[in-house]
Amino acid sequence: MTSKTFISVEEARTEILEQIEPVSAERAFLKDCIDRRIAEEVRAPTDVPAFDNSSRDGYAFRWRDVQSGDRRLDVVATSAAGDPTDVEIGEGEAARIMTGAKLPRGADSVVMQEHVESEDDSIVLDPEADVDEGSWVRRAGRYLSEGEAVLEPGDEITPAGIGLLASFGRSRVNAYRRPRVGIVSTGDELVDIDDTPGDGQIINSNSHLLESLVRSYGADPIVFPVARDSESQVRDVYRQAIDAADFVVSSGGVSVGDHDVVREVVDDLTGGMQFWKIRMKPGKPLAFGTALGESNTPLLGLPGNPNSCFVCFHQFVRPVLRVAQGEPTRAQTPTRFEAVLEDDVSSTPHRRQYLAGRITSGEGQPRFEAFQNQASANTALFVGADAFGLVPEGTDHLSSGSTITVEPIESA
Ligand code: AMP
Ligand code: MG
Repeated sequence: MTSKTFISVEEARTEILEQIEPVSAERAFLKDCIDRRIAEEVRAPTDVPAFDNSSRDGYAFRWRDVQSGDRRLDVVATSAAGDPTDVEIGEGEAARIMTGAKLPRGADSVVMQEHVESEDDSIVLDPEADVDEGSWVRRAGRYLSEGEAVLEPGDEITPAGIGLLASFGRSRVNAYRRPRVGIVSTGDELVDIDDTPGDGQIINSNSHLLESLVRSYGADPIVFPVARDSESQVRDVYRQAIDAADFVVSSGGVSVGDHDVVREVVDDLTGGMQFWKIRMKPGKPLAFGTALGESNTPLLGLPGNPNSCFVCFHQFVRPVLRVAQGEPTRAQTPTRFEAVLEDDVSSTPHRRQYLAGRITSGEGQPRFEAFQNQASANTALFVGADAFGLVPEGTDHLSSGSTITVEPIESA
């Protein structure tokens, strides 16, 4: 066991990410790709739009015909969306045209229907009509040229991306698999969610917390039964998790108490893990290593307190999942900005504290409201939080009105 005392969050994250490889990619149905990462470069297969078309309901005509001052045109054809006309528009002529309909040959401009007087088979453009050469025409290739790159490997497939890929006719794409994450909870005191805790027992909430976090960041959780604080049980459950998953995340058993056996087991399974005391609060002890054997499955042992688990997940597990899904390692620095602190807060000077709180909009600068009872075992603390407020090392107090660095939780 390499035991380094008191390293920073950034050092720990860097060391962990150096060991993380993307999971494999597969050909997947587009509808199964939401929140996954694309594993191919996607280029526009055609110009976008693919053909000149109208952006308004109106009339298509030749701009030069109305410049002389005569603004009367004969309507000789109709072009509807999906039903273009073969008629070529000649001098003094116009075609009725609908939004999205192909521009007829010969025409180069469109006038909105609100800006014409129509009489039988002709129209007269209003003197005030909002027209110019090329008005209300979406030219082919105006938004994208054929062959232009729109998605890079590792980019998230968002709903907008799904729309774009669908417009390219891509019902299947090459996407990174959802990483499988084995979730192991350890502790003699834990009972299942549907059981009634006996004297001194508590419900295993971390499995549910980690399961939902893993799922919300695009990975597939596999939850294992609780391992009691015995070396053989922890080893047994860890082994099952290594076999089934790409990563194993456990909670509890990494402190220095008599019953904290996770460290011993992980050390053994990895042939020598990293065990860090990280200068952060909540959190602090963290075990990390890659399993011996072919899989080299990364194992992360998080502390058991629910809030330690929550913060360590965002700081260490989430970037692991992102890199596993094809994002570059260098992109894993959390988004941070400055806000004005609403309240006085006290902290432990030797460790960076991650406060739970909410960003509120102030005049000019965002504000950060820190919640009450910032304790690692306060299970209600992060409910409703949308940001971490960072009290830097060496600071034991921040006053209301001072500047605080915040990390939005969604992008932390
Ligand atoms: P440990 O890291 O095992 O010393 O646990 C630290 C604290 O977190 C103890 O108060 C545990 O009861 C609590 N804890 C550990 N595992 C869980 C869990 N799965 N769900 C809820 N609380 C837990
Ligand atoms: Mg424990």
